[in-house]
Amino acid sequence: MILQQWLSGRAKLVFIFILINSRILSGNDSISVTYIANCGFLIEIDGQKIIVDGLFKLGHNHYPTPDTSTQKLLVSNKYPFDNINLILVSHAHEDHFDSEMVMNCMMNNPSARLLCPAQVIDSLKKNRNVYNNIRSRIIGCNPDIYTSMYFQIGNTGVHACRLPHPGEKYRETQNLAFLISVNGKAVFHTGDTDPFQLEKYSGIRLSELKIDIAFLNEDFAKAENAHFAGEFISATHNIAMHLPDPAAISWLDSIKDKPYLFSNPYIFLNKMEKKVFNASQEKAVTEQAVYVDSNTGDDNNPGTKEAPVFSINKAAEIIRNRYLWIICMLSLVLPVMKWVPKYLNTGSHKTHIPGSVNSAFSDSRQNS
Ligand SMILES: [Zn+2]
Repeated sequence: MILQQWLSGRAKLVFIFILINSRILSGNDSISVTYIANCGFLIEIDGQKIIVDGLFKLGHNHYPTPDTSTQKLLVSNKYPFDNINLILVSHAHEDHFDSEMVMNCMMNNPSARLLCPAQVIDSLKKNRNVYNNIRSRIIGCNPDIYTSMYFQIGNTGVHACRLPHPGEKYRETQNLAFLISVNGKAVFHTGDTDPFQLEKYSGIRLSELKIDIAFLNEDFAKAENAHFAGEFISATHNIAMHLPDPAAISWLDSIKDKPYLFSNPYIFLNKMEKKVFNASQEKAVTEQAVYVDSNTGDDNNPGTKEAPVFSINKAAEIIRNRYLWIICMLSLVLPVMKWVPKYLNTGSHKTHIPGSVNSAFSDSRQNS
């Protein structure tokens, strides 16, 4: 009876308000990943939908490609690829990027932004009409090799790291690896990065950032190369990608009973499989987090110079810390708890209480 009375009228509104706010303020401790094919993923973090290397059709007759039905969903703003916020393309190779699909996806998702290297933009420019329609939403990114650039796109921070593509013949390929962060949760996608040149870009010290998920291409994912990912990225979850089907299955065998190789290893074997990963909010990857001196990294001067990897914005870190939110919530709840017994004693929930809920909330919100 008391509970029923308490949950009626204005008190019910207060209760619902608290519930909704505690959900919004504490955020969600998960990152959802849907496997498209090869290096292509839909990553969902706190309502942000990001496609990385997922808009493509061909796989050099070797790598997995999206089914035709998935290709249609990808470009037509249909679930799960509806209301895409951001499209990231690591480089212009056919197993990562198809210019027509990117254009159609952009045209049908009017709020989607695209971040990609200049070589991808050159390819898009071949269809001038469509390109002109979407160009205001395209962010071209061409950092010097072994350096990174930071972009804040809505809620999402992206460090685009220009890292070498494997193979002598691909030396001129502009390849980007992406460190993506939303509300302190962070994932790193290697694109087609060559781990064997790691000493040249070791100034990008991701391993100190407590990255939640690393998406590791074939060379990073091989059991014998596991030390590269450990040293460079050191993520909580490690997802192997860019493996032809037989190699994908044997990858699991190659790391079996060797938990020291990769922390929480995983590989998607079925296209369109979706998996939710636990994430931590106890960190903040910010603008300066992956700063690398632009003079480092050339052949004569490998990028080993100490970089201020964790010179982060402390205010951002504090505001993202959920314990502060608990204190905020208490500051909202306590004035209400003080008011509730008075309210029950009146016998009528329509009685006006001076200094009531609304004013209690506005006061405490001003103070918090
Ligand atoms: Zn490639």
